Amino acid sequence: MGVYADHAATTPLDPAALDAMIPFLSGNYHNPSSLYAKGRAVRNAIEEARALIAGYLGCDSGEIYFTSGGTEAANLAVLGAVRSAGRKGRVLIGATEHYAVGKAAAALVKEGFSVVTVPCDGLGRITPEALARNITDDTVLVSIMWANNETGMIQPIGELCRVARRHGAIFHTDAVQALGSQRIRVDESGIDLLSISSHKIYGPKGCGALFIRRGTPIAPIIYGGSQEKHIRAGTENPAAVAGFGKAVELLSAERESRVKSQRLIARRFMEKIAGTPGILCNSPQDLVVPGFISLSIAGVESEPLLLLLGASGIDASMGAACNAETIEPSFVLRAMGVPKSHIHGSVRFSFGKDNTFEDADFAADTLTAVIRRLRKLN
Ligand code: PLP
Repeated sequence: MGVYADHAATTPLDPAALDAMIPFLSGNYHNPSSLYAKGRAVRNAIEEARALIAGYLGCDSGEIYFTSGGTEAANLAVLGAVRSAGRKGRVLIGATEHYAVGKAAAALVKEGFSVVTVPCDGLGRITPEALARNITDDTVLVSIMWANNETGMIQPIGELCRVARRHGAIFHTDAVQALGSQRIRVDESGIDLLSISSHKIYGPKGCGALFIRRGTPIAPIIYGGSQEKHIRAGTENPAAVAGFGKAVELLSAERESRVKSQRLIARRFMEKIAGTPGILCNSPQDLVVPGFISLSIAGVESEPLLLLLGASGIDASMGAACNAETIEPSFVLRAMGVPKSHIHGSVRFSFGKDNTFEDADFAADTLTAVIRRLRKLN
């Protein structure tokens, strides 16, 4: 038996998304900027996907900009908005941001901006109070992720956005891990910029989008042609965009049932491992993306744990928990204050829409057996 429990890393391509892509990988290969009919047909497919995604998020098609993925969308948001704001000031990011935001913000330090990290609490939450303590009226941008990629922790984005807007700051949220489960309506919030990625919702890899609220200042970070209304140069990837559109269409029909089933599967897994001592759960199930389970386990190391799980057919990961070169524990778990006794044995399971109770049972039983085996060796 094999169980894929690493959906936070990436999801399998839905067959319907693949079907939507195929025409643009073969017969309809034409450049969407061409004026002849075949080029215009490809353009129409891109615009259909854009309209679909805009409809799902509650914005105008003209506010969706396709990118090469979540990383580029977040880079464009952070670098593009701050550089075009026309003033030097403070950039605030959450303590648990993905490197797509963290490293982009770090690059701004060299350009004269001061980057401040808003601390999280013991559960990895960035509270509106913590943001309020750090924000100043010269804050140009606040960037706080909607859901964390290691623990699944969901942030109070509406309230955080209101704090940012009160101080005249632009608000960006990296919603890459939130898109698959959270109800996201930019028309009901003041979010200025929102990054999403296709491959976390059963669409193809290498495709994402940035929502840019009309009127938000943004400068391109890639120079070239006039694609994506001069904001993102480069020939579009029509197949990937069509696959992303289809994945969003499926999500729109299935989000609630996916959430329900992933929540039940994760709970089943948690019940099964409850009897094993020395396990801390970094993903309180009521507060995280359904299906996410980050664990820190005393008396074991992440690497052998994952290798033995893998050898038994369970594909899980450290999240971004360890940097393979340095074997440093995750900065996210450190920021949350996970104790030294447990942090080196951190592992992330992330269940998806096609996992079953049998998968949860097998993964949980295998995990407890592997923990017992490693503890005996240590
Ligand atoms: N932001 C978060 C929270 C993520 O989890 C990821 C991917 O793991 C990204 C950004 C980057 O997205 P992509 O892989 O599409 O570049």
